[in-house]
Amino acid sequence: MKTSVVVLTALAALTSSAALAPAQSLTGFKAHDMSRPRPPVVQPAPQALPVPPPADAIVLFDGTDLSGWRSADGGPAKWVIVDGAIESVPGSGYLFSARGFGDVQLHVEWATPVPARGTSQGRGNSGVFLMGLYEVQVLDSYQNDTYPDGQAAAIYGQYPPLVNACRPPGEWQTYDIVFRRPRFHPDGGLATPARVTVFHNGILVQDGVEPWGPTAWLQAQPYTAHADRLPLGLQDHGNPVRYRNIWLRELPEGPTTLPTPDPRPVVNLSLSQLERYVGRYEVEGEGRSVYTVTLKGRTLLCAIGGRALELVPHSEGAFSLRWTAGDVDFDLKPDGTVTGLTFRLGGDTNTATRVE
Ligand code: MG
Repeated sequence: MKTSVVVLTALAALTSSAALAPAQSLTGFKAHDMSRPRPPVVQPAPQALPVPPPADAIVLFDGTDLSGWRSADGGPAKWVIVDGAIESVPGSGYLFSARGFGDVQLHVEWATPVPARGTSQGRGNSGVFLMGLYEVQVLDSYQNDTYPDGQAAAIYGQYPPLVNACRPPGEWQTYDIVFRRPRFHPDGGLATPARVTVFHNGILVQDGVEPWGPTAWLQAQPYTAHADRLPLGLQDHGNPVRYRNIWLRELPEGPTTLPTPDPRPVVNLSLSQLERYVGRYEVEGEGRSVYTVTLKGRTLLCAIGGRALELVPHSEGAFSLRWTAGDVDFDLKPDGTVTGLTFRLGGDTNTATRVE
């Protein structure tokens, strides 16, 4: 029991400070720990490349020009085009997309230099920087050992990939990334961390992981509020890594909260008022839908097709469904009797007469 309390307390502390927690608190390892277990090597299957962009994709590089890219200083891109690919020019600095992006599905094809030169972090190092801040590591991790949170497809310094799916140097490889940007409160505090899913050569390597801040070398940086859209970055790490066929799809923001409650105020009805609606209601004609209204405690339920839907009262006669966009209006007579109901859901309106 004592152990459970300690664990729960530790978990609670971790949860409340997750945004600022250094690496070892979340993973059991300090960043760049060489004693960390190596992800198993999985040989990827052959892929039909390049992967063409779908119709709604924004193509950032199609092999012909760098008009959609800038240098870190905002000037023209300093990387070069070689055989339909962009090649990192050592010393030229990061390459950034001219446009900013937030939530995206991103496809990138990359290849490390051949013949391979250097070891560990010095061999085919580059990186895909989501929003210019969160790096999915690019590295020649084919028979090249390094610290696991810095190998190819790692969220750099934070999460090693689930497996090592690297192809040999010179071969084209793919990243398919689903990225959800972090959300910040108006006061600048973190609302929700970023979330990253990565497929490397078609193999899942990052499963919805949440970086605890911008990725960094030798540091654990907390989140600081930033814009909703920021340029995509490609890292110059001194190795002539190549990229091609870069496209993305901007994702809708997606629901991050519970459904918006019904704007109508909720009223309190007494037990005797609620009891008036209890009964069986039938729709006339073919099919004869039946609505059975019951009371469970002080909660009114309307059962249809074996599902009991909770009703929320907005007046003596008007109710909404708690979890579904639908309404039930009862036909309430001046003497307090209920003679029928109207059920509206998904564009259909059914009027039922009370039979019991
Ligand atoms: Mg890198």
